[in-house]
Amino acid sequence: MRVAAFSIKPYDTSSLAAASVGLPIEWAWFEPRLDRHTARLAEGAVAINCFVNDQLDAATLAILAEQGVKLVTLRCAGFNQVDLAVAARLSLPVVRVPEYSPHAVAEHTIGLVLTLDRRLHKAYNRVRDGNFSLEGLLGFDLFGRTVGVVGTGRIGRRVAEILLGFGCRVLAYDPTPEPDLAARGVTFMPVDELLAASDIVTLHCPLKPNTRHMIDAPALARMKRGAMLINTSRGGLIDTPAVIEALKTGQLGHLGLDVYEEEADLFFDDRSSSIIHDDVFSRLLTFPNVVITAHQAFFTQNALDAIASQTVRNLIHFDRGEPLEAVVRA
Ligand code: NAD
Repeated sequence: MRVAAFSIKPYDTSSLAAASVGLPIEWAWFEPRLDRHTARLAEGAVAINCFVNDQLDAATLAILAEQGVKLVTLRCAGFNQVDLAVAARLSLPVVRVPEYSPHAVAEHTIGLVLTLDRRLHKAYNRVRDGNFSLEGLLGFDLFGRTVGVVGTGRIGRRVAEILLGFGCRVLAYDPTPEPDLAARGVTFMPVDELLAASDIVTLHCPLKPNTRHMIDAPALARMKRGAMLINTSRGGLIDTPAVIEALKTGQLGHLGLDVYEEEADLFFDDRSSSIIHDDVFSRLLTFPNVVITAHQAFFTQNALDAIASQTVRNLIHFDRGEPLEAVVRA
């Protein structure tokens, strides 16, 4: 079975190739992002394999179906980049990797919290520069702080568990609260109350029409003055210009991002010799109390291995005509 894999990096080819040794999968690796302009690269492929910033919109899906593609596999958990209604109309099943390492993303989330709190990003450069002053590095104990976790699925639950270990008071909002988390000391409450009560708010819900820009100007105004906001979920959860305004006034005290709404034109490539044309992103980079990583929260060897083995399992089930696991439905 020929599989056209898009947005491919060397670390993807090694994990996917290792997971498919001896199996009837013939990979065609493509570095470009999948969109309507690159979809024709999939010619001759039965399945395609994509990542978070590939654009599986109506036009792209139509080109893929017209070329005989029969299956869409995602190397990720999120599926907001796929027009699922159109995929269903074209009889193109979409399968994903629902769980590869919630630990990877949860631990990176905590890394952002600690970096911002203890100014590790500043301290690293300062010490290398021979500056051993502590001025401006004053942090706070996480112990006893109130942290609001928005979305307590696989990743949010792990974040809540780690925070309980730090001795934080953990609040949570999820449309389907987990009774066992509540039993372990997490307090579920409406999201507006969580925003108002938290010193740190961390987002772990999916990007859907009803969660897009859930952190907008009114939500930021509801938060405690000087609070910390962390987003390792999807960039579209945050209205970035509103967040910039809140940073300028001090209403928002710290911002940690691993995702950005317009990241597709920036992340995953070395642009260190290019001019960044995104003025909103460039403004974010000017704040001393903002730390941004380029969608790397998932990026552990454990996660890459798990992504590759579930992806190969999805492909082999399809090839053998067996029921598909991890199908995404509209
Ligand atoms: P999950 O499906 O296990 O959990 C999502 C949770 O969000 C569910 O419990 C759901 O009930 C809840 N939810 C739905 N709507 C909500 C709302 N309006 N408000 C609050 N909660 C809501 O997903 P997960 O595996 O925990 O992943 C969470 C998100 O993390 C994914 O959607 C994905 O976008 C993102 N992610 C990012 C990376 C990264 O590298 N940065 C890696 C993997 C996943």
